[in-house]
Amino acid sequence: MYHAYPHYVIKNVELWTAEGVEKGRDVEVHEGRVVSIHPTAEYASPVTIIDGSGLVLMPAGVDPQVHLRVPGQEQKETPGTGLLAALRGGVAAVLSMPNTKPVIDSVDVCKLAALELCEAEKLTGVRAYLSASITRDLKGQEPVDYQALAQWGVKAFTDDGVGVVKDELMEAVFQASAVTGLPVLQHAEYPGHGGVLAAGPVQEKIGSKPYPAAAEADMVARDLKLLARYPKARYHVLHASALETVELVADAKRRGLPVTCEVSPHHLWFTSADIDEHNSAFKMNPPLRSARDREALRQGLKNGIVDFVATDHAPHEPTAKSENFKTAAFGTTGLETSLRVLLSLWKEGLLSPTDVVRCFAKKPAEFLGIADEFGTIATGRPLKAALVNTNSQDVVREEDLFSLSKNNCFIGQALTGHVHAMFLNDRFYLFS
Ligand SMILES: [Zn+2]
Repeated sequence: MYHAYPHYVIKNVELWTAEGVEKGRDVEVHEGRVVSIHPTAEYASPVTIIDGSGLVLMPAGVDPQVHLRVPGQEQKETPGTGLLAALRGGVAAVLSMPNTKPVIDSVDVCKLAALELCEAEKLTGVRAYLSASITRDLKGQEPVDYQALAQWGVKAFTDDGVGVVKDELMEAVFQASAVTGLPVLQHAEYPGHGGVLAAGPVQEKIGSKPYPAAAEADMVARDLKLLARYPKARYHVLHASALETVELVADAKRRGLPVTCEVSPHHLWFTSADIDEHNSAFKMNPPLRSARDREALRQGLKNGIVDFVATDHAPHEPTAKSENFKTAAFGTTGLETSLRVLLSLWKEGLLSPTDVVRCFAKKPAEFLGIADEFGTIATGRPLKAALVNTNSQDVVREEDLFSLSKNNCFIGQALTGHVHAMFLNDRFYLFS
């Protein structure tokens, strides 16, 4: 599925990094590392030339919120289809979420997941990092062994899918975070609100209670209050969906608290008024909210209050995603459409090229502590890059998606950009 080239040049490309844009560059790669970046030139020596004319080369993405469904949920995604979807979307590293079967709450389950992932990692070249749960079996009652899991190599702790309700458990994991340096990822949601969609036409039509922004914002406010006692901990808000959350994070950052925040592509693109009542791919947790919320998330991403984009890629088999919004599982896939959403926002004039790279690659790489390998393109570093046609504008089609599950709410949308090829060290993956 790939070519391996010991020595190659990506010729006459437009280079995007978080530092700026350079046109007409050649990027020369030897044994997987960038050895030179210079104005385009002619080559006499035997070197493989890859023509990058008219294309953009940018750092491959890092996605810190992906449900790879490993171990135990191969009816939703397999290691192969999940990592292939990442590759196809221009993503070179992912953080997998622990709400699996069994839950990733011990070193033994970490080992099982890593074993299941390793073959697909070798084949695709995409790195899959693991996060572990905050509480045993995601039950919100007993803490896991944070030290042992950190020592094994998990990159974060999260009960994603449910919010951690008990204050003392948040304090316990903040204490552990201060020692291990690993971030605590909160799915901020106080239970009991009884809603599946935020206020909007489809929510009214199906007659369910609205899922209020307060369910999210109140938990973030509680967490920030506790966090003030643990200045060495790291707290991260997963998939922020509400204006109130952005305001809380902005205020906490002004006060110097160790907080970061992410947004999912669907919350940047849609509002509750866009929901197709016959397509439960539009049911996700947290839900799509108002235009006012979407605008706060867009502006937050632009000004850095929202640190980066993460997909919350959540594949589900068709039987879990019936047309009934009340009973369908939460989640949309997103690995294959995330960069295209960002490029569409670039096309609209919201994001600059450096903004796109910052929130798709650089910041999430720094967040996961993998910035020595991912997030930029520079001489002396291994090359992890996507070669992208930023001029294309195509409708997302189900048959083009590599993820095993097709519950992607962007199907039918015209999005900018097309990942033409991926470079992962000495490997060259060419797509159509
Ligand atoms: Zn979540």
